[in-house]
Amino acid sequence: MGITEARGIITREVKYGDTSRILTVLTQELGKISVLAGGVRTNKSGLLAATQLFSYVSLQLFQGRSKSLYKINSGEILEAFSPIRESLERMAYAAYFCDIANYVVQEEAPEPEQLSLLLNSLFMLSQDKAPYEQIKAVFTFRTLAIAGLLPELSICGICGRKEEISYLDLRSGCALCSACGEKKQSGAVHTGEAVLQAAAYISLAEPKRIFSFQLPEHTLLYLSELGDCCIEHWLEHKFQTLDYLKQIKALEG
Ligand SMILES: [Zn+2]
Repeated sequence: MGITEARGIITREVKYGDTSRILTVLTQELGKISVLAGGVRTNKSGLLAATQLFSYVSLQLFQGRSKSLYKINSGEILEAFSPIRESLERMAYAAYFCDIANYVVQEEAPEPEQLSLLLNSLFMLSQDKAPYEQIKAVFTFRTLAIAGLLPELSICGICGRKEEISYLDLRSGCALCSACGEKKQSGAVHTGEAVLQAAAYISLAEPKRIFSFQLPEHTLLYLSELGDCCIEHWLEHKFQTLDYLKQIKALEG
């Protein structure tokens, strides 16, 4: 049985027995995989550090009798993102991002763009490089763009006009101009132009420039909450980690 090397982010952990954990790892090479980290909750194991939640690691893996579960031979930390684990609030954001990434990336199907987005978002979060709501907005809208679920946001889905695009119709999944949005009886949310322009920027910007935009605080908060709505609506899944994040924010705020 050969050893496979894979680099990835540990996105989830579940206790397994007294001393082991089953990790979900989003890897460059193998997509989403499950890894049994046997005995790593004991201090004697040197693997403890290389198997921490939200870390970016390089793992030497082998497959046991069960083909769906990898085991760890050895591991090395590439980026620990320690500051994330030092704050409940940062952990709650990271858990939400990882939850979404786990949902969109399939077993054994590499999604390098999604992995790189998660890596960049965890980096921004750990270094306080941008407001957390901005990081969340970027993560949600870009994830939808990568998944091909984000509509064209700079053109009206009904009349084709490119000016005054200020409504988002969640149900039919298109942006609308002010005239068509006002006529629409239900389902279209009035977002304003700046919010849709920011979402369009996030979906199209080069990866390096993706966080390089500025919005007033209340507009940013609205954009971020709209991103949560779109994620729930278009992925057709409710993320419990978002409820947890809201609870933590209520405590901190
Ligand atoms: Zn229109």
